[in-house]
Amino acid sequence: VPMSSTELEAALGAAAEASRRWGRLPAADRARALRRIADALDQAGHDLVPLAQRETQLPAPRLRGELARTTFQLRLFARELDGGACHGVIVDRADPDWPTGPRPELRRMLIPLGPVAVFAASNFPFAFSVAGGDTAAALAAGCPVVLKAHPGHPQLSDRTGEIVSTALAASGAPEGTFAVVHGVSEGRELVLNPRIRAVAFTGSHTGGRALFDLAVSRPDPIPFYGELGSLNPVFVTERAARARGAEIAAGYVDSYTLGAGQFCTKPGLLLVPSTSDITERAVASVLARSAAPLLNARISAGYASTLATLTEHDAIDVLVAGVMGEDGPTPTLLSTSVSALLAHRDVLLAECFGPTSLVVHYASERELLDVAAEIEGQLTATVHGDDHDEIVPPLLEELVERAGRVLWNGWPTGVSVTPAMHHGGPYPATTSVLHTSVGTEAIRRFLRPVVFQNMPTRLLPEPLRTPPVA
Ligand code: NAP
Repeated sequence: VPMSSTELEAALGAAAEASRRWGRLPAADRARALRRIADALDQAGHDLVPLAQRETQLPAPRLRGELARTTFQLRLFARELDGGACHGVIVDRADPDWPTGPRPELRRMLIPLGPVAVFAASNFPFAFSVAGGDTAAALAAGCPVVLKAHPGHPQLSDRTGEIVSTALAASGAPEGTFAVVHGVSEGRELVLNPRIRAVAFTGSHTGGRALFDLAVSRPDPIPFYGELGSLNPVFVTERAARARGAEIAAGYVDSYTLGAGQFCTKPGLLLVPSTSDITERAVASVLARSAAPLLNARISAGYASTLATLTEHDAIDVLVAGVMGEDGPTPTLLSTSVSALLAHRDVLLAECFGPTSLVVHYASERELLDVAAEIEGQLTATVHGDDHDEIVPPLLEELVERAGRVLWNGWPTGVSVTPAMHHGGPYPATTSVLHTSVGTEAIRRFLRPVVFQNMPTRLLPEPLRTPPVA
């Protein structure tokens, strides 16, 4: 149910009110609150998982795993806060002989941006939703969160929201630190509201771009961290295709059909030599797969329409035509050649969110470079090869310029939540090439640096008082 504008106004007012107090709580207190949320969610699993299952059609084991990922994520940020790394303290002592002129004493730290609007994703009802990574990172940073629920799982969103709010209140967080709102126009109002200081979004290119444009159209533009999706191309060298054809075909089909292909890291493009048996093996594997339901009617409609554009295209061969039944679609497998792909790149290099992927046949390995040079910004790019393949170094050079995560002999689905993870990439994969939405570095999106010059110790914020001067 969309909120009334009075309710939305109240949520925003409370978030602004809570902002300083939440932001100034010692990091250890915020860590305790995050752990309390995690514990409460774990305890409510028996209640939340069936609710998520009803609303998203995702299977219970997957949802239980995702809930575990979500609570782990909250605890990982708590650990990060305990370590104090979130303050990013850098101290320069005064130096009269500094080459650019006498240097004052400078103490730099990171401070929270203020209230953050988070747009929950449809395809991860826990891990990228109400209590997901964006919420965990923003709360850890010291920012109140106003969460725009995804209409694909409204009841789960409200129930999760209650658990988060109760746990926060029990931890002494100020009222207004967290709220859940519903509705399209409410989402737009959030992005435009002067009290919101940053936005995190996971979803479609169209939706993300529309909201990004709103964020930058404000009289006071704010950062908009949109994670918009990706083709996740996989490049297989001739040597790898000869040595491990069966393994590559099996890994590919498992990866692109996982979760009914509803992952932003699904491999949507596989480049293989035209002479290899990988395609044949993949076809056999796809034919043996059963149907799996898609998340909701909107995703199904989007999938059907993008898929129709591809299957009806002259440059596409339909190797396996998926069938839409009561239990959802069976997977589809398409193929084309490098020259056709490049001639029709506008249509063929588009993400098709669901269980479909495109095998591209190349005649010579040099063509891998031609394709790599044409792809837009990606969350991931993968090479299956041999360390000694001559094509690999120039190929990696192209891919590093275009992708946030570059994989070797693996599959892009499955994004580990860990300090070194980077789940991001150049536009159009995201709207902010500098940042990740997964892993502990995700906290940086909600912090800004401030430096204190020659400030007496007693007037400094606590984290800047104690560190030894370098
Ligand atoms: P979506 O349509 O982009 O919706 C995401 C959120 O943005 C929803 O809360 C939606 O609100 C809001 N929104 C979208 N357009 C808006 C607009 N013009 N103004 C205000 N709010 C707007 O994404 P989705 O429903 O999750 O899935 C649709 C497609 O997104 C999929 O088919 C897939 O292509 C892509 N997708 C990508 C990822 C990823 O990981 N990057 C994840 C999931 C989906 P309302 O729903 O209330 O309108």
